[in-house]
Amino acid sequence: MSGFAGRAVTVAGLGVSGGPAARALHRLGAQVTVVDGADHDRARAQAAELAPLGVTVRLGDGDTLPAGTDLVVTTPGWKPSAPLFAAAAAAGVPVWGDVELAWRLRGPSATGRPPADWLAVTGTNGKTTAVKMLAEMLRAAGLHTAAVGNIGVPLVDVVTGGEPYDVLAVELSSYQLHWAPSVRAHSAAVLNLAPDHLDWHGSMAAYAADKGRIYAGNRGACVYNAADPVTEELVRAADVEEGCRAVGFTAGAPAPGQLGVVDGLLVDRAFVPDPQRTAQELAAVADVQPPAPHNVANALAAAALARAYGVEPAAVRAGLRAFRPEPHRIEQVAEAGGVTYVDDSKATNTHAAEASLAAYDGIVWIAGGLAKGAVFDDLVVGAAQRLRGAVLLGRDRALIAGALAKHAPEVPVVDLDRTDPGAMAAAVAEAARLARPGDTVLLAPACASMDMFTNYNVRGEAFAAAVRELASGEGRGP
Ligand code: ADP
Repeated sequence: MSGFAGRAVTVAGLGVSGGPAARALHRLGAQVTVVDGADHDRARAQAAELAPLGVTVRLGDGDTLPAGTDLVVTTPGWKPSAPLFAAAAAAGVPVWGDVELAWRLRGPSATGRPPADWLAVTGTNGKTTAVKMLAEMLRAAGLHTAAVGNIGVPLVDVVTGGEPYDVLAVELSSYQLHWAPSVRAHSAAVLNLAPDHLDWHGSMAAYAADKGRIYAGNRGACVYNAADPVTEELVRAADVEEGCRAVGFTAGAPAPGQLGVVDGLLVDRAFVPDPQRTAQELAAVADVQPPAPHNVANALAAAALARAYGVEPAAVRAGLRAFRPEPHRIEQVAEAGGVTYVDDSKATNTHAAEASLAAYDGIVWIAGGLAKGAVFDDLVVGAAQRLRGAVLLGRDRALIAGALAKHAPEVPVVDLDRTDPGAMAAAVAEAARLARPGDTVLLAPACASMDMFTNYNVRGEAFAAAVRELASGEGRGP
């Protein structure tokens, strides 16, 4: 579709990306209708903001395709199986995601320069971290850049905002990639692949295939995880430009063509004149914050993308040193009574929780929430030896309780049997009771938060508030 003036565009879903998409399309002259199955106060407030622009908002019916629709633009909350898309397919109406829309809206900047290149990152875990590290490296190299996309900065706003970026560090979710058939990043990385969001994608194969779309049309490098063979297979299956290279990363020693770690140093054996013989030092492991193995892997993936874009080693190091971790990701909140309290609320799936459970000994584990179709056996088997106890809350807690009973029957488990937000304070109190000096109370829910909280931030803040309350009580004495 060329030109939006007068075209009837239906935006599926309000929310973080639906609002910006509707506004951008309206500015371009489209007749915009937003449909959303919800009809609650928040949706009505958002609708009230769009209505004065002349955008039609239909709440309470997300299934019927408005008559005369030329294009559907969808948002991540909508499953591909939604009736609206079946209706669009039957009517021959194309469906784009918000990222596809942004890609098509890119234009020369105000200064007449070509649109910014995209360096794209996806994966089950580590996306936000890697994208922020990448943006710091690009910045250190003197490039005008921003960390954008699924990170919470809608791409549509960025590409239509007129800011003359050289290159963008773009976080893409599997949802976004599903509906982004024509996006062509300069270079892209899939950090890792573990079962997640299977209720949305339908199967692991479909989830992997959606992630793999990120490599389509790459011309610089396709970056894969050398410890995760599926990511390498996705590179092999990708249709890329001639000259595009496959570059691996590993938290261990790198083979030629990879980035990795040797003697406490991050080294590059890909973007060097003779990869068989030489390795270029990039930074020290100690430059990575925090220097846990999974995070070193994130740093190496970011470094591979930066190097593919011509960034020098000194800027990779300076970028890593400038990087600050985001909250709620293995964040130490407080120490009280010799017990350390760690907030990894962002561990919304088993793969992420596995990384943080591997980082401590003597753990009182707070877990539970929305399982999204996950199974917990492997996670519990891997952590059983290090668990002092577990406190469970949230809707799908019985699944975790079942895995604990089966694989770690000696570990004491407190099932709070609660799904109200106040349960977090109770969980912290129970965890404090189970912990001994030297232990770590770890919030790593391995589940999404939306059964109890608006999002993982709110969940992490509830945990931190309860811990601070507890710690200040300790300080007051008897
Ligand atoms: P995303 O944007 O993909 O959700 P984040 O950087 O926000 O990723 O991290 C999400 C969660 O995953 C955090 O709990 C973090 O500790 C964990 N994590 C980060 N990187 C990795 C990795 N490479 N492998 C496994 N877990 C990771």
